[in-house]
Amino acid sequence: MKKKLHLPGELAGQAIRNVFAKPATIDYPHGDPSIPANYRGRLVYDAPRCINCLMCMRDCPSKAIRIENRGTKENPDMHAYLNVARCIFCCQCVDSCPKKCLSASNDILLARLSRDELSVEL
Ligand code: SF4
Ligand code: SF4
Repeated sequence: MKKKLHLPGELAGQAIRNVFAKPATIDYPHGDPSIPANYRGRLVYDAPRCINCLMCMRDCPSKAIRIENRGTKENPDMHAYLNVARCIFCCQCVDSCPKKCLSASNDILLARLSRDELSVEL
């Protein structure tokens, strides 16, 4: 294929158009990120539905999710913890859960100042 030549005038015109074009980025965190509804952000956990089957933990490829029953078998007190640093947001845990108690939200504000803060309770 013949390579297209870019004349200096063409480049200057493109540069001027870019200066006045709408930016492709936003002024984070002040701009509207307009996250799509089906975005895979922070997971959400519906504890009362959880049956402690641990399928989500078993199928997670990066061992990022942990389910814990702090109660008893008769009176469960279910908690879910996510290591945001490990999670790759594949949503395999969501697909594996037989009770549909895990779902992905469009929360993208997951940055923290220290590694320890990246382990969060869902
Ligand atoms: S989204 Fe993927 S990586 Fe994250 S906890 Fe679920 S299965 Fe694991
Ligand atoms: S797969 Fe669903 S029901 Fe089973 S432990 Fe995980 S969250 Fe609970």
